[in-house]
Amino acid sequence: MGIIEKMRLDGKKGFVTGGARGIGKCTATAFAEAGADVAIVDLDYETAVATAKEIAEATGRKVIALKCDVTNEDDVKKMVNDVVEQLGGLDFCHANAGICINAPADEMTYQQWLKNMDVNINSVFLTDTIAGKYMLAHGGGSIINTASMSGHIVNVPQPQCAYNASKAAVMQLTKSLAVEWAKRGVRVNSISPGYIGTELVLAAPHLKALIDQWNAMAPMGRLGKPEELESICVYLAGDTSSFTTGSDFIIDGAFTCF
Ligand code: NAD
Repeated sequence: MGIIEKMRLDGKKGFVTGGARGIGKCTATAFAEAGADVAIVDLDYETAVATAKEIAEATGRKVIALKCDVTNEDDVKKMVNDVVEQLGGLDFCHANAGICINAPADEMTYQQWLKNMDVNINSVFLTDTIAGKYMLAHGGGSIINTASMSGHIVNVPQPQCAYNASKAAVMQLTKSLAVEWAKRGVRVNSISPGYIGTELVLAAPHLKALIDQWNAMAPMGRLGKPEELESICVYLAGDTSSFTTGSDFIIDGAFTCF
């Protein structure tokens, strides 16, 4: 069997949080293209349903939509149960849902800080541990978390201390779970994208206005595309990454190199 065949995800079942659009939609599409059945998990159920339909039609795989607020423990437990029941198991997941709140630290409210932490890191703890418990009891699995280059650097000029801190925490949670579960068949890795042209950036006027400044700082002079994160996630979800755990993959066109 050649390497491309070995990397396929035929027979595997997984879910993507924040899968309705942006990076999550892209990785969900790639998982299905590689042969997996996939659940699109999102707060925005209407868009998740449309995305699931689009991916199912394009790939012929079973793709379902599930409404879930990843900050709510009961929602996440129900979602994992529904994935297992409707897809027939759980082999991998991509904990990807996230938000970005920009505010100077001395003006940021505690509520803004808590909201950012709830969606960006507390939700990853819930998703990873609830999905992880199933995987530990059922022969193992692979968990991918979306961190960010913001967990490695402090972005400028926009102030985003909560986002940066939450993404650094995603990486350290990833490493901690990877070590705890290394001998029990569950691998945990993270990806750290640079600036990617999704609605998180393009639909936020205060961020969209900064794209030219970011591009001037970027060695490649451009934003990344969500498609440019697909292949690493297919690799991490599948069996060829069996010795890869506790790693963070920076995909940023060398933005963080200097
Ligand atoms: P996006 O805003 O396009 O998509 C995020 C999705 O998450 C949306 O569909 C939204 O409905 C969903 N979501 C938000 N809160 C949720 C909740 N509580 N429960 C369930 N779903 C929820 O964003 P994106 O650019 O695709 O970002 C995806 C991930 O990538 C985020 O974690 C983000 O921090 C990270 N990231 C993005 C960039 C970038 O430049 N776009 C760079 C680095 C990291």
